Amino acid sequence: MEDSADAPPCRCKVGTVATEYGFDGIHSELVERWVGDRGESGTSVRSLADRFNQRILRAELRAADVDLVEGRVENLHSLLTDKNRLEAVQLEAKSSLEREGVNVEKAMDKFCSHQTIYRHLRNCLDAEKEKNVLSKEHELDRVGSIQHRTEAVVEDSIKRLRDGNKLDIGEFEVLVNVRVTCESCGTLHDSIDLIERGGCDCRR
Ligand SMILES: [Zn+2]
Ligand SMILES: [Zn+2]
Repeated sequence: MEDSADAPPCRCKVGTVATEYGFDGIHSELVERWVGDRGESGTSVRSLADRFNQRILRAELRAADVDLVEGRVENLHSLLTDKNRLEAVQLEAKSSLEREGVNVEKAMDKFCSHQTIYRHLRNCLDAEKEKNVLSKEHELDRVGSIQHRTEAVVEDSIKRLRDGNKLDIGEFEVLVNVRVTCESCGTLHDSIDLIERGGCDCRR
């Protein structure tokens, strides 16, 4: 993405807060991290939101001249935002920060939810995440799992009919084998074999 994208791109909460704090390069950074790179699937909006909000907190701590020990910002951020923490613990963290002169209320007011970050990425920055990175393994899993599911359903139907005396069969086995016909040469392939082999012989 061009640097020009870092001129205030929008008036949504993320854009406004980023401009207010002067977060340089934040918008292209958000897009890069979210979209990922060469087969990497990219960061979730949830952790993007965490990082963004930690950045706000860091700015407020700096403004109050608070000593930034390694991990302090991350720790405070999780104390302030983790819904599973006791309210008392949260209040304690807040008031100790206030004693240090940090404007906690202001910082928390600027925190953006992951939905807000998502909307900023999609609507303001026009970013799009690649659905899945294309891979043979992933497609083999999909095809294999639908075959197994079909086998399970058919097996269940036959069993129920047999046990209700509506179908006459003893022991049985269900095999689902989805086949693919190559229209150039007419060869019938097992779909899994075809994916594993990487193509029809007539193409070599
Ligand atoms: Zn925006
Ligand atoms: Zn063929």
